[in-house]
Amino acid sequence: MNELFRKCTASALSCMMSVLPCLSAQAQAPPAPAPQLTLHQYLQKPYLDLFELAPTLSFTPPEVDTERQALKRGEDSCRNRFKDHSRQYSRQMEAARKELKQAGPKLENQPRHQLHCKIQNLELLRSEADVLSSQAIPHAYDNLNAKLDLLLKWPEIYRQTTAAINDGSYNQRRWADVKDIGFREIAPGQRDDIKRGQEAVEELKRAGLLPPQVESKAVQDYVRSVAERIAKHSDLKIPLHVSVLESREINAFALPGGYLYIERGLLEEAEDEAQLAGVIAHEIAHDTARHSAKLMKRATIASIFYQAAQVAAVLLTGGVAGIGLYYALQYGYYGLGLVLSLKLLGVSRDYELEADQLGVQYAWSAGYDTTGFIRFFDKMATKVGYVNGVSWFRTHPPFFERMVQTQREILFMPREGTQITQTPEFLQMKKDLAPITAKADKEDVNKPSLLLTKEEGCAPPRKLEYKPGQPIDQVCSVELQNVDQPQPAEEPQPTSQPQN
Ligand SMILES: [Zn+2]
Repeated sequence: MNELFRKCTASALSCMMSVLPCLSAQAQAPPAPAPQLTLHQYLQKPYLDLFELAPTLSFTPPEVDTERQALKRGEDSCRNRFKDHSRQYSRQMEAARKELKQAGPKLENQPRHQLHCKIQNLELLRSEADVLSSQAIPHAYDNLNAKLDLLLKWPEIYRQTTAAINDGSYNQRRWADVKDIGFREIAPGQRDDIKRGQEAVEELKRAGLLPPQVESKAVQDYVRSVAERIAKHSDLKIPLHVSVLESREINAFALPGGYLYIERGLLEEAEDEAQLAGVIAHEIAHDTARHSAKLMKRATIASIFYQAAQVAAVLLTGGVAGIGLYYALQYGYYGLGLVLSLKLLGVSRDYELEADQLGVQYAWSAGYDTTGFIRFFDKMATKVGYVNGVSWFRTHPPFFERMVQTQREILFMPREGTQITQTPEFLQMKKDLAPITAKADKEDVNKPSLLLTKEEGCAPPRKLEYKPGQPIDQVCSVELQNVDQPQPAEEPQPTSQPQN
């Protein structure tokens, strides 16, 4: 048993963090002898580090209160900032429209073009500010609050988890029979989902919503081999169909009946094979548990198109219906994950927790380092703007609950054999992918944005760039853009920065 917990003993804390000065907790910090981080600085750390550190740390109630209030104030001021931006962009837009009207038909083509561009850009900026204040910022703060909860509550949960392992009561939990994976029945009738999955694929193709496949046999073969390895060690009893799609979206999803799709953006973001395996295992779990069938019951594939129609309406009216528009603003595309009905993907609050649990089990059974999913989830949750996009986040089961449940399940897995984190094949896939990504990025730059570009030839507003691991505080200090000033020429794509 000792070995089981070896991984979770406290490790020496390296304070090599470069975080922003904390919002307010400094005044409360006691004159500690050892160089300790402030509570706020701990919240910038990955979940996995916090699981290890939490049992070794203690915070006073005033410290915790101060941090909670600081987070609340930070969220409020950040949201208000973007609400204010939105109002200012609206006012400027109004002024530009007035100018256009007053000038009337005698206005020369060039100044008219400039005014059209100005209105168009202001509309984009206002939408972006709206989505930030209403969605992206609240979720970034949810993530920070979850980390705070984790620091406070994990020590006790960890104690209970240890006790449950020692007295064997952990074997009473649902799906505890991990040594029988493949021989147990999570949900009867997987075969019945094949037809629905085929129909969904057909409909998506017909509607032009399914991106083409990545044109690299090596990449397709690699991802298929990882997915098949996991499927072989899962409760899936139907054949798996795996496709890597040519899309920048950081997403993977499984349609019912074993149709697994990995988008190119996910392969770019994943850092090792265990992360990729964690995501794939989670998606396969949705299919083995037939979550989609349970949610859709008699509903038909047509419900996918209800959402697609809504998306089209947003495109045409410039309204902000949600994060989808934000994606389009930021990255020039609509995420496929946003167009698909969550019911079809089997996504619901309870089912996410179940897919997280079974996903850990399948990754373990296939011989992977089970922390892969947590590490990837953390990365995406920290990356402002993604949190609403990927289907794993879209039902918002509390981050805290999901991370804690997943970590508990990881601790319940028997420690046997090696746990694969990285492979030469994964690294080779990255090499194979590089020219494909470079080519696609080049095409993206030259491709006019489909969205709201009624007026061609306008210099677009500057993009807000989010880097992995960037604290939300940095996004909150973004200034109002001056649309009258010419924007700098298209900068090269930023390269990923090392994680904190
Ligand atoms: Zn899911």
